[in-house]
Amino acid sequence: MSTFKAPKGTYDLLPPDSATYLAVRDAIATPLRNSGYGYVETPGFENVELFARGVGESTDIVNKEMYAFTTRGGDQLALRPEGTASVLRAALEGNLHKSGNLPVKLWYSGSYYRYERPQKGRYRHFSQVGAEAIGAEDPALDAELIILADQAYRALGLKEFRILLNSLGDKECRPVYRAALQDFLRGLDLDEETRRRIDINPLRVLDDKRAEVQKQLVGAPMLRDYLCDACKDYHEQVRELLTAQGVRYEDDPKLVRGLDYYTRTTFEFVHDGLGSQSAVGGGGRYDGLSEMIGGPALPSVGWALGVDRTVLALQAEGITLDLPAATSVFAVPLGDEARRVLFAKVTELRRAGIAADFSYGGKGLKGAMKNANRSGARYAVVAGERDLAEGVVQLKDMESGEQEALAVEEFVAVLKEKLKRA
Ligand code: ATP
Ligand code: MG
Repeated sequence: MSTFKAPKGTYDLLPPDSATYLAVRDAIATPLRNSGYGYVETPGFENVELFARGVGESTDIVNKEMYAFTTRGGDQLALRPEGTASVLRAALEGNLHKSGNLPVKLWYSGSYYRYERPQKGRYRHFSQVGAEAIGAEDPALDAELIILADQAYRALGLKEFRILLNSLGDKECRPVYRAALQDFLRGLDLDEETRRRIDINPLRVLDDKRAEVQKQLVGAPMLRDYLCDACKDYHEQVRELLTAQGVRYEDDPKLVRGLDYYTRTTFEFVHDGLGSQSAVGGGGRYDGLSEMIGGPALPSVGWALGVDRTVLALQAEGITLDLPAATSVFAVPLGDEARRVLFAKVTELRRAGIAADFSYGGKGLKGAMKNANRSGARYAVVAGERDLAEGVVQLKDMESGEQEALAVEEFVAVLKEKLKRA
């Protein structure tokens, strides 16, 4: 071990486990790429104001969790704590919304940073794959995103997840509800910090995990009872579309999210095998965000799924992904002449698109075969002086243990055929 360790709240992705992370990212992205979402990549940091305004001053993310810093040049930046504000900023800056092609549908994958108390499933550096559909108000778009996340989780083999669904109302009906909720909350016996929250973000109080708070919340006014007709109708359409597509969800009238910008459709994917860090992903509609960051009115909807927690969910369900072996052919040269010949053959295989690796460091047969085994390769190719003198190499099927001699000139073509059939 070196003197250094990964910083607190972070961890490294190392082989072989890292292959699962790549596969999870891929599984989440695949349905998006197949549904008209284009790839977007934004910087790992932004002007701190983008998040302060976009995510909301009163949120935990901006209040406590953001890695904000001043550069040598005096710019106030922050490592990105989430993706939506950045992606919307980028779409506006790139004028994607002016192409006459709304909604602008984008997907992304990357690292996010939050100064949190580290625990299982909660890290200071974590990874999300997300999707945003910018510039359209259509319940089918909300439904599409939920369906695509559901599809991604199912493609991974996950079963023990649930979709929680709620509507947060819009700028007509939410303020009325907010005032009613504040009235109710002010009559409760709450600590100072929670009382402050009543003023700045009362809906978050509903989300308080403490039993003594939850007990007092019985009888609190519910947003559901305050939704205006337009919001009610919109929400009903989202629900009908999901049901018609066979996607099961649970109505959760108390569901709120950690970000201030959400309106109307709000949802969370929770996994029951994860203990207290049970949210594997979440999202919703954010019709006012564009204007909050200085853009035109662009009603939008999106989600972000946590890659780290999705991997934990796979573990919780005992799912091992069926990943193809990284290496198909492993070459074991015995002697200098064999090194030259097999190195050339490995290059040829790779150029033909076959995953091949080579025994480096002049190992003997036993050590090299151990490496061949570990590589997961289906075939090992072994050659020594005597084989080459006869113009052949030995091809060993690592599954059956069978071995056959193949002519040096033919063996790349033969392997191609065999691997096609395997
Ligand atoms: P939580 O309530 O668990 O703090 P959140 O509401 O802050 O979650 P979002 O901002 O909606 O989470 O992010 C979407 C997803 O990203 C989460 O569902 C989770 O899977 C993942 N995520 C968020 N914060 C972390 C973290 N600190 N470590 C690992 N994954 C995270
Ligand atoms: Mg959080």
